Amino acid sequence: MNLLLKLYAISSKSGKEDQIKSFLLDSLADLPLSIETDGIGNIFITKGVAESYPCFAAHLDEIHAPCEREVIVEGDKIYTVDRLWNRVGCGADDKNGLWVIMNLLRSVPVMKAALFVQEERDGALAGCRGAGYCDMSFFDDAMYVLECDRKGASDVVSVGKGGTHLCEPDFIPQDLLQKYGYEMVRGGKTDVVELKMRGLEIPVCNISCGYYDAHKNSEYTLFSQLRNCLNFVLEITAAELKI
Ligand SMILES: [Zn+2]
Repeated sequence: MNLLLKLYAISSKSGKEDQIKSFLLDSLADLPLSIETDGIGNIFITKGVAESYPCFAAHLDEIHAPCEREVIVEGDKIYTVDRLWNRVGCGADDKNGLWVIMNLLRSVPVMKAALFVQEERDGALAGCRGAGYCDMSFFDDAMYVLECDRKGASDVVSVGKGGTHLCEPDFIPQDLLQKYGYEMVRGGKTDVVELKMRGLEIPVCNISCGYYDAHKNSEYTLFSQLRNCLNFVLEITAAELKI
């Protein structure tokens, strides 16, 4: 849980992701990773060498305005408050996704990860600017892209905004969905939906990672549900999928 508390304490408003990027790169410095960045500030990580890789995505930014915040743990529930003890958003959307990827990088021997900046809408600026900008060739040797950036604990989004087809309904085996309490649903937009809209052909999906009240001051996470998401993704990565 410690890593998650450190992530929540860092403000990472869209376009101001430098601090969270530094924290991330420092935390991963002991791992043998190939790390690249691009002109807009996205981070691309490759671990190990393979012909094709399981690939994961998350976004580095959050919607909330920067402020000094303290992380509160109440049993399974985690949230943040400001110096006056008012609730403020913790940026679980999408630090929970980052937490999953940072854990995967420690236990999966061969994988790729795309960490995008500026996913959130910002005034007149559209969302998914990092995913809209990136060089798609990073995904040429990826088997699929799993993003953990969905509220709640039970959704695998297989159809995104505007009816965008993300993956087949049986992409993840039914017994695996049942074991972890997930089901295939329709959902909204995030980075992997943008990648599909740009023509990415491999399967992608967006998976619930235990956060609630995203974009609100009352945002919180149920840690057991985030852990369940990590275990689900680990087992997907180990499974034979229909791809
Ligand atoms: Zn998000």
